[in-house]
Amino acid sequence: MQHRRKNLPEQAEFLSLRGRHEEINEDLVAARTRSADLELEQAKAESDLAPVRERKARNEKRIADGSVADPKALSTMIEEVEHLTRRISDLEDAELEVMQAAEESAATCTTLQTSADEIAGQLTEVKQRRDQAVRAIDADIADRNTRRGSIAAELPEALVNLYDRVRASHSGIGAAGLVRRRCTGCQLDVNAADLRSYAAAPADEVLRCEECGRILVRTEDSGI
Ligand SMILES: [Zn+2]
Repeated sequence: MQHRRKNLPEQAEFLSLRGRHEEINEDLVAARTRSADLELEQAKAESDLAPVRERKARNEKRIADGSVADPKALSTMIEEVEHLTRRISDLEDAELEVMQAAEESAATCTTLQTSADEIAGQLTEVKQRRDQAVRAIDADIADRNTRRGSIAAELPEALVNLYDRVRASHSGIGAAGLVRRRCTGCQLDVNAADLRSYAAAPADEVLRCEECGRILVRTEDSGI
């Protein structure tokens, strides 16, 4: 099964899609991690702000209710409130930045998730096509084996055995056509002396290529 897939265009498409799917999933994991980090940062910014806001509110209350009688202490407190106001503003700016980054990261997660889902769908579709192609090849092989079996059954047993033996040691090709004075198995030209002997051989004699040893099949275009 595995080796039949190997050269199929569907398999190439499948592998390329799977590679993209893996990449996007890695990006998605990274984006989710970033979102989680930003969430923590936002919580920290909130918790940094809380005591500063409280302190400012406490001071403002004391300034307003007249509980600080000493003018110098009062002036210090007013200054502190101004300082706390600036500090709150800075912290809020920082928090806003974190919130914006969190929004962007969440949008990135959504985009990546959409792509990952799309590719997962394509993968399922390509996988189906690929497996269908493999099944078609299997059916073709079975069909050819049946045809081969019925042809082989009509041939002399010794010839079939010879063919199988040669085929096993010649990359699966046991017989080759003699076309234009050339063996189509090894692609070598046959020399003049061999051509003469082939031409003189009776039609039912089994010829062999002198170069590669394959069974040589005479054709209309053999050149002999
Ligand atoms: Zn040959």
